[in-house]
Amino acid sequence: MSFVAEFDGLPLDALRKRSLSATGPCVRRALTETRPSLTRFAHLISPAAGESLEELCRRSQALTQQRFGKVIRLFAPLYLSNECINNCKYCGFSRDNPILRVTLSVDEVVREARALQEQGFRNLLLVAGEHPKFVSQGYLAGCVRALHDEVPGLSLEVGPMGTKEYRSLVQAGADGLVVYQETYERAVYAELHTAGPKRNFEWRLETPERAYAAGFRRLGIGALYGLSDWRLEALAVAAHAEYLLRHCWKAQLTISLPRLRPCAGEFEPRTQMSDRELVQLVCAFRILFPDAGLVLSTRESAKLRDGLIPIGITLMSAGSHTEPGGYTGAGKEHLHQTVRGLIVELGASEWAADRDVRATGQFEIADERSPQEVADRIRRLGYEPVWKDWDAALMAQ
Ligand code: SF4
Repeated sequence: MSFVAEFDGLPLDALRKRSLSATGPCVRRALTETRPSLTRFAHLISPAAGESLEELCRRSQALTQQRFGKVIRLFAPLYLSNECINNCKYCGFSRDNPILRVTLSVDEVVREARALQEQGFRNLLLVAGEHPKFVSQGYLAGCVRALHDEVPGLSLEVGPMGTKEYRSLVQAGADGLVVYQETYERAVYAELHTAGPKRNFEWRLETPERAYAAGFRRLGIGALYGLSDWRLEALAVAAHAEYLLRHCWKAQLTISLPRLRPCAGEFEPRTQMSDRELVQLVCAFRILFPDAGLVLSTRESAKLRDGLIPIGITLMSAGSHTEPGGYTGAGKEHLHQTVRGLIVELGASEWAADRDVRATGQFEIADERSPQEVADRIRRLGYEPVWKDWDAALMAQ
């Protein structure tokens, strides 16, 4: 049985109601249990638990140090392409956004990766929009093969594929796959994904299982907070993580907590999640999943990221660019604009005369510090920045 069947039977609304009506004693019980259930998780993300945030932070910190030591692993996103055939209302790369696009050649991808390696990174996340023509499986395999000997940790965040396609990417040298469901609320999902293959909710939901079957040994999941009620999303992510830990137990699981950022298209968050609620959610995930990696990107401010280092985060991006060619300027020569999905040469456009013109980024980042500044800050907080992710030798079966 795939997660889809289990997901359809989940009492998410009832759990959310239990969360909203939880009391102090419920929270205390959830905090003392060694193996909390989904119901206890609902109590940990409750408004009542928000009043005991210090206690949650202490428990989360103790568990994180026990399982991971005082270590923060660093990674960088490397955007390969911002072409996309989907329309996701909240994303700058949406097909209908009239932005500047490019797909890097394999040589340009290697240039970008080398620039990141010079900054210290040994763990890269290759990111691309979903476009079978520009970002084909063969293209991705070519990028992975070209980087494999130089970069010890390669993960992918690209359009979902079938097991067979994933297997060839694993064979090329990729070891991690990240796929966010964005929103686990079906009606909201249908409303926000207006065109393209991403409209298929189930296909996306089963992606981590197909990736695992193909041999990926690092799986990343998450929701994009700001699309629907954050407690409902968090409960669904927790149920999804539980399922994957049961069924894909040879893989290392990571959970990301991205909140919506400004982007082309100017989509406004539909729901709010405060900084304090984000901290609470980090603690709740840690208490429910002591061994899961928790990821925080440069979407969040330097101040908040620094504050979360000692509390439960184990993986961070740093110095990120969300546009292809962002680290070296690669690809500038073959930029083009698309208007409602159709390529338009720059010609007489406002960008034609701009020599510094670059591809459009997916979203604005909030923490603009360099990787070295982030690493220094991690050290000053008494933690060790680690540039490489899980050692491939330790992951071998
Ligand atoms: S979220 Fe992904 S699939 Fe949707 S428009 Fe952006 S890049 Fe394309």
